[in-house]
Amino acid sequence: MKRKKFLYLILMLGLAISTAAVFNRYYPSIGLNRIKTGYRYGFWFVSIIFLVYLIRSRSKPQLAPSILSSENMSNKDRNKSNVSFNDVAGLEEIKEELQETIDFINNSTKYRKMGATIPKGVLFYGPPGTGKTLLAKAVAGETNSTFLYASGSEFVEKYVGVGAKRVRTLFEKAKKEAPSIIFIDEIDAIGTKRNLESNNEKDQTLNQLLVEMDGFNTDETVIVIGATNRLDLLDEALLRPGRFDRHIYVGNPNMKAREKILEVHTKNKPLDNTVDILNIARKTHGLSGADLANIANEAAIIAVRNNKNKVSIKHFDAAIERVLAGLEIKNPTVLLKEKKTISIHEAGHALVSKVLKIDMVQKISIIPRGQALGYVLKFPEEDRYLLTQQELMNKISSFLAGRAAEELIFNEVTTGAKDDLDKATDLARKMVCSYGMSSLGHMSIDENHINHNYEVLRIEIKNILDKGYKNALKILKENKDILNHISNTLMEEETIDSKKLDEIFKIYEKPMDCVT
Ligand code: ATP
Repeated sequence: MKRKKFLYLILMLGLAISTAAVFNRYYPSIGLNRIKTGYRYGFWFVSIIFLVYLIRSRSKPQLAPSILSSENMSNKDRNKSNVSFNDVAGLEEIKEELQETIDFINNSTKYRKMGATIPKGVLFYGPPGTGKTLLAKAVAGETNSTFLYASGSEFVEKYVGVGAKRVRTLFEKAKKEAPSIIFIDEIDAIGTKRNLESNNEKDQTLNQLLVEMDGFNTDETVIVIGATNRLDLLDEALLRPGRFDRHIYVGNPNMKAREKILEVHTKNKPLDNTVDILNIARKTHGLSGADLANIANEAAIIAVRNNKNKVSIKHFDAAIERVLAGLEIKNPTVLLKEKKTISIHEAGHALVSKVLKIDMVQKISIIPRGQALGYVLKFPEEDRYLLTQQELMNKISSFLAGRAAEELIFNEVTTGAKDDLDKATDLARKMVCSYGMSSLGHMSIDENHINHNYEVLRIEIKNILDKGYKNALKILKENKDILNHISNTLMEEETIDSKKLDEIFKIYEKPMDCVT
């Protein structure tokens, strides 16, 4: 910074003298002719050189990832992580797997004496918000290592060689501050498979990363942790032994893990005795650790907004709804006719889900939230890892039940089913192309073949969707009275909870078959 100020000073001085020289030529009476012509030219020359230098240095891209360069590079302590394994909940097997790496960093001489080399790269992959960054920080915290964070996209530049230079800078810093953990988030931004069409800059950056990972000296305790949502996109060279050879899947938490994550995130919050963490864990199936952290925080904010000094289950329920369904729209301007359509649509979803026993319907609402005009909140009774073909077909029926209900009652359909159609089509496509659940047989079909055989696949997908739709329509016809009853209650009360829904079903006391 000081150097820059000095350069500016010189530049200003040069410009001032040069301007004075011009003045002197036209106004010799000022007396500036005492400055010798040689000096004048000298100052002109020097100021032009500095001007060019400043312009060039301003347009030159940064050479280190912004996160590194914005921090004080010489201050080692600022790069220390204060996260420990206690802050990471519910990922016990992964923590166990990482224990060896941690032991290697903490007791490296023990391993080196045995001729063992330190694992260089660990790759976390899985859906977003599942704790990959948190785990990397915890490894750094547990080993008191320097934590250097960089995101793959920070290395992507249009100037050839800049990304590679940034990789070099990052590794140099890591070596200087060893033991250290380099964490490269979104590594797919630089590590995707190379092909003939790939771009030169990206290839150079990836090559530099490979070179750096190969070039560790055995005395240097530097571990590179990468994270990606798409392992399948990564270049083979990156995954081979000696580079990112340990691949750890970090998935969405199961119920037990959700309970533990919620415990971590409610530790510092005053909860009243209505709050049952296990029950909240049950209601949050399919959500990530980041979602759960968000719910705990939202619940506390809602409690403050309601002037309460403790967080209650009501606040948690409101927070879950907000995270799952979006922000509630106050004073929505929905026409009465549209409201009726929405109530029939949502009643259709809830009815078919309940009849086919797909998840537990927790709440039906026609109060708009986010982009949805209405919604059905439901969650499975238990974590499921395998689903049968019949269960998938039932899911498709429940996705399409909103549209089927519109057709049954109004004899016409609306645009309200857009999202349902996306979900149903996606699931049907997976059944055909990934799960081998179509008349094409027990086979999976990869991306290239999908494009080439689109017509054949489209017919298979359509057959599945038609079958699911027909089933939904049949269930709704058989239970038309219940459908209307749910819809009318929604029109009056706007929301229905699971208890109320059970009561409506009881009124009709009709034994219901799981029709397929
Ligand atoms: P992305 O792939 O989007 O980068 P990520 O997998 O790296 O996401 P993190 O950034 O590690 O996710 O997690 C986000 C936040 O979610 C964490 O800061 C933490 O508050 C919370 N979280 C996620 N998983 C856990 C967990 N297992 N225990 C405690 N908190 C968690």
